[in-house]
Amino acid sequence: MISEKMKEIMKSGSAIRAMFEEGKKLAQIYGKENVYDFSLGNPSIPAPEKVNVAIKEIVDVTDPLTLHGYMTNSGYESVRIAVAENLNKKYGANYSADNIVMTVGAAGGLNVALKAIVNAGEEVVVIAPYFGEYDNYISNVDGRKVVVAANPPTFQPDLKALERAITSKTKAVIINTPNNPTGVIYGKDTLAALGDLLKKKSDEYSTVIYLISDEPYRELAYDGEEVPFIPDFYSNTIIGYSYSKSLSLPGERIGYLAISNKADGCEELVSACNVATRILGFVNAPSLQQLLVEKCIDEKTDLSAYDENRKLLYNSLSKFGFQCVKPQGAFYLFVKCPIDENEFVSKAKSYNILVVGGKSFGCEGYVRIAYCVSKQMIKASLPAFEKLAKDIFGN
Ligand code: PLP
Repeated sequence: MISEKMKEIMKSGSAIRAMFEEGKKLAQIYGKENVYDFSLGNPSIPAPEKVNVAIKEIVDVTDPLTLHGYMTNSGYESVRIAVAENLNKKYGANYSADNIVMTVGAAGGLNVALKAIVNAGEEVVVIAPYFGEYDNYISNVDGRKVVVAANPPTFQPDLKALERAITSKTKAVIINTPNNPTGVIYGKDTLAALGDLLKKKSDEYSTVIYLISDEPYRELAYDGEEVPFIPDFYSNTIIGYSYSKSLSLPGERIGYLAISNKADGCEELVSACNVATRILGFVNAPSLQQLLVEKCIDEKTDLSAYDENRKLLYNSLSKFGFQCVKPQGAFYLFVKCPIDENEFVSKAKSYNILVVGGKSFGCEGYVRIAYCVSKQMIKASLPAFEKLAKDIFGN
């Protein structure tokens, strides 16, 4: 029989996945074109053409025993050099291959980082709203999750609340900017104050508090918005990057951890991440995908389709009377529920609109709309949103 812990996890399930399955059922009844499924953060633009070309080249020229063989747990050295140099070029950082561990996406990276640093019972702080899978990642290492709400309507972290939440048992704080589900980018001033706070608290308790920066959406920022580089504000930062969204490769499972020499215990921490990669059963990040990253390291994400969707949805929903957080990045719109969250989600479903309740992100009273869908679907969904608004606001 399955473990008690797994029973609990299975009971709580994933509202996002449940809504996605619901969408498939509704599509069978009403036809795919009449169902507006905004539940899943699956990129809707294909990977750049260079990705396909590079995969073919890699398969053609690489010795198959190397390409398909085991390797160092942290990944190919040439790939880690390429990642390090890319970070150095973009952010004036000082990484080398020894600071990089290739991972099985951001999810793999976060699990590896937590496995490397968290003792059972130690606290990991998350800023709500947050990616709900953090609950599982923290529970995987028997850590204790501590939730600190961000400040609506800007959804920047509430540093006073964070200060109160940090204790001598705090091992890490996880941040995610651009944020899933709000689309908000944390500003420089906020991050500088966050860095100062973590330094102050580490000194107060004589502990090391790591800041884990979960960055699948780093490249997805609109209107020329800058996404500040987190290690500039706090040296004990562990970056967890992913190519799932920036290169539209979520099924390929590739990303990396970056830990700078300035981080406390950097060398031991990187070694621990290598061991964690092995003992969690990843062993190493997928070989072909690593080599692909090396070849496509300078590839730019084409944001135009997401940006058009963002503007169309934000402007239309605002016009219909909904209060939306204006997304600066990622591909999500966070909308305030004018009525009870569950009621709102069901009412939206009655118009074949599928969205995910804020509860799944630790932030009740909102819904998340993932606009990584076709523009055609957004256009087709607008009359349904308008009817939903009329139904709720009665005008
Ligand atoms: N972190 C956040 C905030 C996400 O939104 C996601 C995926 O949607 C992940 C991590 C996991 O990303 P990956 O596919 O790289 O494992």
